[in-house]
This record gives sequence, C-alpha cells and structure tokens, in this order.
Amino acid sequence: NIPKQITNEAVKPFGLTDTKDWDLLRASLMKFKSSSLEVPLVINGERRYYNDQTKRGFFAQTNPAHHQQVLATVTQATREDVKDAIQAAKDAKKKWLEMPFYDRAAVFLRAADLVSTKYRYDMLAATMLGQGKNVYQAEIDCITELSDFFRFNVKYAYELYSQQPIESSPGVWNKAEYRPLEGFVYAVTPFNFTAIAANLVGAPALMGNTVVWKPSQTAALSNYLLLTVLEEAGLPKGVVNFVPGNPVEVTEEVLSDRDFAALHFTGSTAVFKQLYGSIQQGVVSGIYRDYPRIVGETGGKNFHLIHPSANLPHAVLSTIRGAFEFQGQKCSATSRVYIPKSRSEEFLKDMAGTLQQHKISPVNTSAGSISGGDLHGFMGPVIHEQSFDKLASAIEEAKQDSELEIVYGGKCDKSSGWFIGPTIIKTTNPSHKFLTTEFFGPILTVYEYPDDQFTQVCQLIDSTSAYGLTGSVFAKDRDAIIQASEALRYSAGNFYINDKCTGAVVAQQWFGGARMSGTNDKAGSGNILNRFVSVRNVKENF
Ligand code: GLU
Repeated sequence: NIPKQITNEAVKPFGLTDTKDWDLLRASLMKFKSSSLEVPLVINGERRYYNDQTKRGFFAQTNPAHHQQVLATVTQATREDVKDAIQAAKDAKKKWLEMPFYDRAAVFLRAADLVSTKYRYDMLAATMLGQGKNVYQAEIDCITELSDFFRFNVKYAYELYSQQPIESSPGVWNKAEYRPLEGFVYAVTPFNFTAIAANLVGAPALMGNTVVWKPSQTAALSNYLLLTVLEEAGLPKGVVNFVPGNPVEVTEEVLSDRDFAALHFTGSTAVFKQLYGSIQQGVVSGIYRDYPRIVGETGGKNFHLIHPSANLPHAVLSTIRGAFEFQGQKCSATSRVYIPKSRSEEFLKDMAGTLQQHKISPVNTSAGSISGGDLHGFMGPVIHEQSFDKLASAIEEAKQDSELEIVYGGKCDKSSGWFIGPTIIKTTNPSHKFLTTEFFGPILTVYEYPDDQFTQVCQLIDSTSAYGLTGSVFAKDRDAIIQASEALRYSAGNFYINDKCTGAVVAQQWFGGARMSGTNDKAGSGNILNRFVSVRNVKENF
C-alpha cells in the first residue's frame, strides 16, 4: 500500500520577466509588509496573545533587510503556558495514536499540497521577508523541501511499518508494532529553513507522537503560517503546540517533565551540547520515564577540496554558491577551501571576477538585496544584529591578523539592514582558527597547499574537522577522488564529488553529519522515523 507516485516537488522558475507568479508573490509580500501581524501561542488549538494578560511579553520579529520594519509581534510563552502546552500534548496523544495511519498521513499529504498551491505565495513571502531569503532560496526551502519532507515521510513510514519479523514456526505469529514514543516530543527549530521546522515537527507527529514546538523567534511568522496550514489540512487540536518564548524558560519546563520523550533539534552546536547535557543529567537523576531520544543537527565547517585536476570554472561557481547563497547561513555552507598553489591565483581571480560580474551586491543596493524591489538579488541580509556583529568583528579580526589576508569583500553595512558582503580570506596557517571556527555567514577561508601534497592535505582536513557535516572534492582524476573519499570518510556525513556541499534534496541526498555536527539521523530518509517509534514485538500462538 506504499504510495508509488511520490516525487520531488518541482522548483517554480521565477523568471526575470513579469508573470502572474510575480504578481501573486508581490501581493503576498505587500500583505506582510504593510501590516504587522500578531503571532499567538497555539495550545490545544487555542490562540493565546501577549496582550491577553500582562504577564506575557512579545518579541518583535523584524525584516532583517529593513530592521526598523516590524513584521510580527510574537507572543512569548510564560512558564504556565508551557506547562499547558505539555498537558495539551499529553491529552491529545491517545486519539492521535489511535487514528489509523492513513488518516495521520492524509494530514501531511494535504498540507504539502496546500503549501505548494493555495499558500505558495504566502509561504514564500513570509520566509523571504522574515528570514531574509531571495525568491529562489525561499522556493527551495518552504515550498519544495517542505512539501518533499511531508510526502516522503509518508512513503518512508509505510516502508517502516511493513518491516515485520518472520514467523518462527507453524502456528506462531509475530508482529512488530511501531508505537509512538511514550510521552511527548520537544521540537526546537531553527530560523534558517522553514522546511527544517516542518520536518522536526512533522516527522515525529506523523508517527503518532504529539509535539511541543519552540520555533525560532526570527522565523515565527513563516512557522506560524505553516501551523495554520497544518490545521487547515486537518491536524487535530493538541497534536502540535506552538510556544515561542524565552528559550531557557521554555526548555527548563519541558526538560523537567517526566513525559519528555525526545528532543528533535536543529540549531547551534553550543545549544545542542547544553541540551544534551541537561537531558543526560535528567536521566541520571531519574526525572524521566524513558531514556529520551536525542536527535540533533547542528553546525559545520564544511570544506571544498580542489585537486590540481579539477575543472576550475566549475569549482569556482560551486564555491560561490556553496559559500554565499543565503549569506552562508546554511549548516552545510562551504566555509573553507583547500586549493593547490598552482591554481590558487586563477581560482581567486575568477571568484572575484564572477562575484563582481554577476553584480552580487556586497551591501544593500537594489541589485543585491530583497529590500530594493529586486527579489532575485543573489544575497540578502544576515538574520539579526548579533549575527551581524559577530561576522563584522570576525572581519575586523582578520584585518589585524598577520596570518590572514582579506582577498575579497569585507564590507559590512547595518544602516538599514544586516548586510555583510561576500568575504574571502586567505590564510597561510593550516590550523588557523578561521579554518576551524563556524561563522554562519558569508565568510570563506582559503588555504593553499603544495600541489604534490594531496595526501597530506586530506589528512589535514580530517584532523581539523571537529565537525563532520558536509564537504566536497573537485577532481577529474579518479584516484584523487577515491583517495579523498577514503581519507575523509568521517569528515562529512554528506560528501559530494564535483558538486557544491549545500543543497541536499529530500530523499536524494539524506542529510546529516556526525562528530560535533549532530546525531546523523539523516533528514529526508526513512532513518529519522525510526527515532520516533518504540517497537513492541507481539508473539501469538494460534
Ligand atoms: N539541507 C541543507 C543543505 O543541504 C542545509 C540544512 C541546514 O542548514 O541545516 O544545504
């Protein structure tokens, strides 16, 4: 009974010329720009607003391209609200888990269709304005990847449920019952992909779990819109409870509850480590009924390794896209390049030439930002002031450091939005911290290696990979490809050959990394669903 027709949603080509699509998108953008919306908490389907009671505060979600423009006032959950959300998740559980799988699946299949049709332009607009994406980056996030997650999870769930034990002897019948976890799931979701939020919530819910969802404050608008789409698709009350708020307070309430059964997280390594530690402590002190499942995807320091035999123009374009699309704010973004000395000058010259020739704007001009009316601009703003300050100070630091040389960019402008231009920094020190620290922005560090030291540079990359998320090798030489693939086996959970290290497509490139990058449970594959079920084996004698 597995649905066979599931394929990846096609990316809509928003061409440069005006079309009906553009008109519809502009209308949605205008709608969100012209009125600041109130984003409520949603607990058992009920809306709670910050001005219902004085105890509740709000967070102003602003447009990162125009930081004075408030897009939404996001209600902040109090501790009482979080307790209520947990209770709502517990109360909704029985009905949801007893619902036939077909009906649970229908909610997500229907939501995927709504996102890619009726709500396409609203989803795009909310993600573009709130999270600083151009139209293409929004399209591959909140439309295609999001609906792919919902649809392929259904296919993978069917496959999982069909995995059954064998009959041990005549007259004996065995079955595996894929129970949801006992308790509720806590989904902590990031700003950078609306699709990731959808999967962090959707994958456990599809398997019959109920969820307490703490969205990123800076993605609250698109995330709330997604929740309303799920409701329209038939999601019963209490299955997903939406509680934006102070991360420490929300998390403390959740992690102190006996029924906390799993964490589904994407975000920073630092926060994940803290949560991991707190959960383990909770286990040791006997708070929980179970050993909670911990599923997390965090940071990366992703590499492009270029071999002397590489097709250089291809490596240049791939590196520009990997490092600078969405301002480098993908966990998978390219942030270090290893280039042979003989090809370095040409590589850097082409990188600079291409960046200029394509009028990739370093700062807030009409050609380069989503704010000036050109929604195609290659790059937009970084997400918020803290991110801007961190990146600007890294660029300042680079200017002072004798081992670093800024060979392109380095421009920062916060006059109207949080704009950091694409920046390329060369280092002579193979273990410089710019080759190991994740900046989560458009800063790329380049190291030149002697052409005859490919073996050594592979070892160098591996030994400086505390993270293990993504990486690429560019080479025509098959031996070099094999050598890099073997030497870098654990340096990347997503390893690319002659392609950029970003842009994993659901069901095509299963996404995730080990080491400090996470638990590598592979979003966009069936593996992730296994983490949200607890199997009961039933044996019956006839
Ligand atoms: N899956 C995305 C990619 O392959 C990145 C996800 C993330 O930033 O966490 O580019």
